[in-house]
Amino acid sequence: MQDIQNIEMQDFLKDMVEPLLSWYQANKRDLPWRKNTDPYRVWVSEIMLQQTRVEAVRPYFENFIKKLPNVQCLAEVPEEELLKLWEGLGYYSRVRNMKKAAQKICDCFSGAFPQSYEEILSLPGIGQYTAGAIASIAFNQPNPAVDGNVLRVICRITEDGRELSNPELKKSVTEQLRKIYPKEHAGDFTQALMELGAVICVPNGSPKCADCPVQFMCRAFYSGSQMNFPVAAKKKARKIQKKTILLLCCKDKVAIRKRDEGGLLEGLWEFPNLEGFYSEGELETILKEMRVEFGKAVFCGEKKHIFTHIEWHMQGFLAFCKNESSQFTWVTKEQLNEEFALPAAFQKFKKYIAFADNDSVAQIQ
Ligand code: SF4
Repeated sequence: MQDIQNIEMQDFLKDMVEPLLSWYQANKRDLPWRKNTDPYRVWVSEIMLQQTRVEAVRPYFENFIKKLPNVQCLAEVPEEELLKLWEGLGYYSRVRNMKKAAQKICDCFSGAFPQSYEEILSLPGIGQYTAGAIASIAFNQPNPAVDGNVLRVICRITEDGRELSNPELKKSVTEQLRKIYPKEHAGDFTQALMELGAVICVPNGSPKCADCPVQFMCRAFYSGSQMNFPVAAKKKARKIQKKTILLLCCKDKVAIRKRDEGGLLEGLWEFPNLEGFYSEGELETILKEMRVEFGKAVFCGEKKHIFTHIEWHMQGFLAFCKNESSQFTWVTKEQLNEEFALPAAFQKFKKYIAFADNDSVAQIQ
């Protein structure tokens, strides 16, 4: 019974191939990573685009490719320099894994990007989606790249009511698509599905069915049930953590330190900070224990930063220190801008360092 349903579904889905390819040729966006199908460029763009909007990725992609134009450059780049190129994109384990993968390509594949799906999948940080994207876009192999965008499109077209988190859904959509992949245009088909999910069958708000090349076969369109698909699993509420961020300034320098290994934002630089919220008086006591003497602390306001499962609710204080405590690394504003990667959560307070002289501090309030 299951096989019969799959065969029918495959017959049904194959009608989308030609209209989707034609639509893609006429409507594809001019994106920097589409200038050619070099596997290194496809890989960099796909990793950057995970959890990140196209418009946010554009400048990062161009800068990254300019500074590290090939696998060899990525394999050899010092970690600090690499993290600086990724500063603000978040999910830093992505780029650390890219460096490990580049080293493996140099060591095990003589520096040439592997071509088989299994070999691509064996690289650190590359899962089925990214392996499918590289194999199809760079090497024109019929390997689907199924992410949330593609699942949304297929669930709407077929009115598939399984939850997005159900691994059977992704598995069966991948297998159905694999059977209908056009062998001569595998890369274009992958990108056409992605493009449709990104600009027509959109995740937020109503899909633009009037402009959709596969409207003629979309079951959700005919029944008016587009917004019921895909079926999302109920989200768990994010954990809230309160933090006090300390902008410790001494003359022309500011204190930073490295985060511990093994946790959120591991090994990245941060402004010193404390768990919980504190008053100026409480801070004085705590900073004394940290062997930091300061003249005064100025409240810089509250900020919020959202991670996948956690929210940081932060309050900042700019503190004028009399000494450079040896617990921290002290850097100039220029060094902080040019050499040290600071995660986006801490970037939100960076502008206040500019007020770290007694004459301009009044502008904070
Ligand atoms: Fe999505 Fe509408 Fe196209 Fe169906 S017709 S695939 S719901 S945009």
